[in-house]
Amino acid sequence: MKKHNFSAGPCILPEEVFQQASQAILDFDNSGLSILEISHRSTAFVNVMEEARELALELLNLQNKGYKALFLHGGASMQFLMTAYNLLNKKAVYLNTGTWSSKAIKEAKLFGEVIEVASSKDKNFSYIPKDYSVNEDVDYFHCTSNNTIFGTQIKSFPKVSVPMICDMSSDIFSRELDFSQFDVIYAGAQKNMGPAGATLVAIKEEVLGRMERDIPSMMDYKVHIEKESMFNTPPVYAVYVSLLTLRWIKANGGIKAMERKNSEKAGLIYNEIDRNPLFKGFAAVEDRSAMNATFNLTDESKQEIFDKMWKKANVNGLSGHRSVGGYRASMYNALSLESVQVVVDVMQELEKKA
Ligand code: PMP
Repeated sequence: MKKHNFSAGPCILPEEVFQQASQAILDFDNSGLSILEISHRSTAFVNVMEEARELALELLNLQNKGYKALFLHGGASMQFLMTAYNLLNKKAVYLNTGTWSSKAIKEAKLFGEVIEVASSKDKNFSYIPKDYSVNEDVDYFHCTSNNTIFGTQIKSFPKVSVPMICDMSSDIFSRELDFSQFDVIYAGAQKNMGPAGATLVAIKEEVLGRMERDIPSMMDYKVHIEKESMFNTPPVYAVYVSLLTLRWIKANGGIKAMERKNSEKAGLIYNEIDRNPLFKGFAAVEDRSAMNATFNLTDESKQEIFDKMWKKANVNGLSGHRSVGGYRASMYNALSLESVQVVVDVMQELEKKA
């Protein structure tokens, strides 16, 4: 029986994407060939790549605004250094909201001076710092829109006069934003977009070409733009499955509809966390993520029984990350409200037993 999958990523994808993706392994578009054996230079795959790049920009409402979309290898972790390689001449400002921001900061330090403008490390990254300003004399400002591990999410982005770079790995395509306020957006595919192996980068072309250093070809956004994301063999299957997911998002009402459903799911679980005396939320209420709800038991001795109960209810992936402990319900686009209801029911059952 299919499990209710709350895994933080790789994670649940739409059932019809799994169906179509399986079919393409056996016979891609009635070609008599598997998607796994076709050339990345074949017309069929060039069309996949073109559609995926265009559709990503369309869903983000970034078409005809000077942006290019790329599908690259190396995950979001590669973008930690690639953004700095391409955009950090002297100084850059970073907002530190957790493990992933910290890793981005570590990589950027190899390329120039990094100013950590604010950090929520003092409270184990349970909130989003808000009182800070970004000077004009820096190359860019970098932030992480959703902190997958700690369950916090930036609700309102600062107005800055320098290019803004955002790691949207765990909330891209989940909520409506003015995406044109960002100059570079990057996201590993393996949450809301597809399987692991591809990374989406949406980049405003005008911010490129200002570097004083030489950039190796594989690290150079301009090279990848010029080669239309085909400088080397792209992750063909991961890009194809990402395209299937992007088509699914569009067919199901786009980001607006995803956001509506995600708010409903988040409302359901956070209401229960706040109502049920056996649980407490980890993140500051105003900064709670709609993607990853982090919470703990108020009485740790109930852990064994609670774990048994949700596993018996066919729930997968509810255990929290080791740096937070407790539980994390990751509720990406493809997760249904019914699955969230199953967890809420188990939380209520635990209360009845207490
Ligand atoms: N940034 C965020 C917000 C993430 O959640 C993750 C992975 N969970 C990463 C970066 C790193 O991504 P990758 O494993 O694709 O390098």
